[in-house]
Amino acid sequence: MRILLTNDDGIFAEGLWTLAGELKSVAQVTVVAPDREQSAVGTAVTLWQPLRLREVNPMVPEVETYVVEGTPSDSVILALDGLLKGKVDLVISGINHGLNLGDDVYISGTVAAALQGYLHGIPSLAISTARGNSHLAIGAKLAALIAQKIAQSSLDNLLLNINLPNLPLDKIGGIQLTRLATKSHINSVEEGFDGKRKYYWLVRQGDNEPSEIETDIWAIKQGNISITPLSSTLSHSSPPPLLDDLCSNLLQELKRG
Ligand code: MN
Repeated sequence: MRILLTNDDGIFAEGLWTLAGELKSVAQVTVVAPDREQSAVGTAVTLWQPLRLREVNPMVPEVETYVVEGTPSDSVILALDGLLKGKVDLVISGINHGLNLGDDVYISGTVAAALQGYLHGIPSLAISTARGNSHLAIGAKLAALIAQKIAQSSLDNLLLNINLPNLPLDKIGGIQLTRLATKSHINSVEEGFDGKRKYYWLVRQGDNEPSEIETDIWAIKQGNISITPLSSTLSHSSPPPLLDDLCSNLLQELKRG
């Protein structure tokens, strides 16, 4: 089994190498990851400047490792469409230092990297945990177990967003299949003055509203591991009737001027 491993925290992140160390016992692992922190860059890809990649010494022995001067999505596209010859069976992104719950998935570089794998038709996992979690090994072991299950089955078309609570194994209550919470954060804008010009900070703070049952946020609050199956469609499954009516008449109205 061959695994492409990446992240959005950059090549030196502990979460990446904890995963690499565990996964190399079950698969051939290649690391292709950004050369620096790329958290919250979402699905960004670099189209207007060249990408540079170089092979570097791995922090875990015998893991072929490349750094990319680009985003997490760049790293996966570069690896799957250029660098790696032969089939990749699984793409894993993480372990991210910071949970990726609810609407975080729309800005998360960790999830975006896994999404690229999924869009290539390869089963893909995004794995995240609370910042400062000292139990990264649990996430790594879970990833290795899921990798083995995927190797034994024909689970393609799979995109899983996995989040782990900051707890030792004996305190984790269970593993729950969840859906995304609709809201994870409240955004605010803080204004300051640097002596010459105004500046602004976008501030994201956790939303403390009670979370709906069976969502990812709820599962983490219960002390459980959350596994959310994602799909790539943003389309509304059935457009509201009002929109149907509106669209059928819009062209006539445009022509009428
Ligand atoms: Mn990150």
